[in-house]
Amino acid sequence: KMTLPTDLEIARAAALLPIDQVAAAGGIDASRVEHHGRHVAKIHLGAIDDLSACPKAKYVVITALTPTPLGEGKTTTAVGLAQGLARIGRRSMLALRQPSLGPTFGVKGGAAGGGFSQVLPMETLNLHLTGDFHAITTAHDLLAAMIDNHLHHGNELGIDPHSISWRRVVDMNDRALRNIVVGLGAKLDGIPRQSGFDITAASEVGVCLALATSLRDLRERLGRIVIGYTRDRRPVTAEDLKAAGSMTVIMREAIKPNLMQTTENTPVLIHAGPFGNIATGNSSVIADQLGIRTSDYLLTEAGFGADMGAERFFNVKCRVSGLHPDAAVLVTTVRALKTHSGRYKVVAGKPLPPEMLEDNPDDVRAGADNLRKHIEIVRGFGVAPVVAINVFPTDHEDEISAIREIAEQAGARVAASTHVVDGGEGALELARVVEEACGEQTDFRFSYEEQDSIETKLHKVATGVYGADGVEFTVQARKDVALFEELGYGNLPVVIAKTHLSISHDPALRGAPTGWTLPVREVRLAAGAGYVYAICGEMRTMPGLGKHPAAERIDIDENGEIVGLF
Ligand code: ADP
Ligand code: MG
Repeated sequence: KMTLPTDLEIARAAALLPIDQVAAAGGIDASRVEHHGRHVAKIHLGAIDDLSACPKAKYVVITALTPTPLGEGKTTTAVGLAQGLARIGRRSMLALRQPSLGPTFGVKGGAAGGGFSQVLPMETLNLHLTGDFHAITTAHDLLAAMIDNHLHHGNELGIDPHSISWRRVVDMNDRALRNIVVGLGAKLDGIPRQSGFDITAASEVGVCLALATSLRDLRERLGRIVIGYTRDRRPVTAEDLKAAGSMTVIMREAIKPNLMQTTENTPVLIHAGPFGNIATGNSSVIADQLGIRTSDYLLTEAGFGADMGAERFFNVKCRVSGLHPDAAVLVTTVRALKTHSGRYKVVAGKPLPPEMLEDNPDDVRAGADNLRKHIEIVRGFGVAPVVAINVFPTDHEDEISAIREIAEQAGARVAASTHVVDGGEGALELARVVEEACGEQTDFRFSYEEQDSIETKLHKVATGVYGADGVEFTVQARKDVALFEELGYGNLPVVIAKTHLSISHDPALRGAPTGWTLPVREVRLAAGAGYVYAICGEMRTMPGLGKHPAAERIDIDENGEIVGLF
């Protein structure tokens, strides 16, 4: 069997179009295209108004079953589907998150898709792009600097230093910065206090960018950020510190979505990249507001499984944007279902156990509960599920048939796709099936209403989406909820910060767990982004590097080309 060239080789060999041609194909006027080199542009927000009379695209979210350490291929499938739709004569637009630099130098594996279904230029996507993450970092850290400066100059607002929850951010995996002391030194060096760094993808400023509907709305969200409390428990905002105006100015370019292209030259908007654990895990509302008027189909990926990214996509992002999805693609692999059977031990970054590559449809069936549950989750939102089997060259025909059977028995549409090897040509069946699903009448509904109490919202997601018996609050969590409701934040939607490795809070519970209760340890406020989030487990907001990070292998060769990146 011929071996596939590497992602980097495929990316280098691809014939890219000048970015204005890509924009023109989406109906975006040349005057709105701000070039960042030949193959990347920022799109001026005026384009949204220009296109407001254009018909709305069908809106499709790409999600997956519970992630395994092997990677299910949501991004590649999203790219493959965009290319497949183009091949059946439909205009597609894809909206994706910008990857963080930390993981690029940490674990091998890019965020640009794979094989003949990639976003290009992949080096640019994975390294800085147009600097939006730099802007998020700077705006975030300006607020941090202004907080400590406020304490230094007499603390006129009466901020309780122990209550300050606003940390600093940097776009790097750096465990040594998780806990730090600021303000050490002499009197002029500030007030000493404990703090720490998170990775930029965990910044609330980044979530404000992802959920903003305009520059004015971004300004207001940044102003509403709560950084801590006064000694008499009144919230202190970025507005109180007079920081929000400058933060918005720093974000002035970052608010414009970035236009790139796929391996087959279809348009892609890359915009914002908030974490999938404590934040929304979805690309921006603004990119979708633009994309929905540029195509027949707007596709967007939601992080992790349908219980995580897609739930937040439906309940948080769609609530803000007012856009309603027409279908949800559930990416599935043979190897993922075999892993969910519990019969194999797979480790991230290690080769598959060889016996896992043997033809064994029974193992696939043994892992099917998880897929069935995710189909049910999607259907719970009134959205038509399409199971996309992301085919690996080592899969066997009757294993793929087994997934088709499982999906059909659960009442979902299903298609197998070989886009990684064959590009858009491999995604024709998927494109047709998605088109069919989008023709169905939808009955989109949220899991809860804004006016439900925070406790009720959490209960509705835990029981109605995850299948838990109920929610258990610690004394601290109850206090947090009471405070936020008293302060007028009770109408915000909720994000449940839990593991992505199970539909429950416990990574050891496989399949579709039943007979469990969701434990809420504490509840935190993201008033700027516009949600409260319940902590249900250890949440890492600053990753570390492994013993031999990818950074050790990345270099520049004699031609000035990058080597060792994926
Ligand atoms: P996700 O978006 O779900 O995290 P990605 O699309 O980024 O997944 O894929 C994860 C990794 O698996 C990537 O390195 C990708 O190239 C690889 N991959 C995904 N699908 C396939 C496939 N069908 N064949 C070979 N490699 C694949
Ligand atoms: Mg992805």
